[in-house]
Amino acid sequence: MALGWLRNLRRWPLLAQLCAGGHWLDGTGAEAMSPRTRALGARVRDASVARSVCPYCGVGCGQLAYHREGRLLAIEGDPASPISQGTLCPKGAASHELLTHPGRLTRVRHRAPHARSWTEIPLEEAMDRIADRVWESRRRTWVEEQDGEPVRHTTAIAHLGGATLDNEENYLLKKLFTGGLGMVAVSNQARI
Ligand code: SF4
Repeated sequence: MALGWLRNLRRWPLLAQLCAGGHWLDGTGAEAMSPRTRALGARVRDASVARSVCPYCGVGCGQLAYHREGRLLAIEGDPASPISQGTLCPKGAASHELLTHPGRLTRVRHRAPHARSWTEIPLEEAMDRIADRVWESRRRTWVEEQDGEPVRHTTAIAHLGGATLDNEENYLLKKLFTGGLGMVAVSNQARI
């Protein structure tokens, strides 16, 4: 009876904290944690991590992408990045949701002329339609010479790139659109 009472007394949280592990403590450190709190861990605990670069703008902040079994868990700032030293701006900090948000559009939407609503069309059809229009506009507006000088360009088509494009993509776009198609108006969202 007396032993049971003693056992119960030792489970009393105040006493358990003050004499955790057989030592008298002040009850403000780890001894104040419940077993449940002690078992808690970060959601990325034991996850694999890949170093990456934020794709949003040209600053190039470092990111750590945590993943487990093919699923992205979180994206956080990389403390080892000499650019950002572990910090991310609100856009970079939200990049996990760029991929995972349920409202993310993953199919091409098309609103026909005068239509009041959008319809979904297959990606192949959208790409074919864009290619057809670019090619037709280029053919219709091509300028071979101007004031006796060869210019070989079209001013009827422009391209505005997104800030999520990386260096290599921008290089290829510039090469294709300027050197290949003769477009002179090629710019990027980051300049606006
Ligand atoms: S969007 Fe923000 S976090 Fe991403 S590279 Fe630019 S400044 Fe860095």
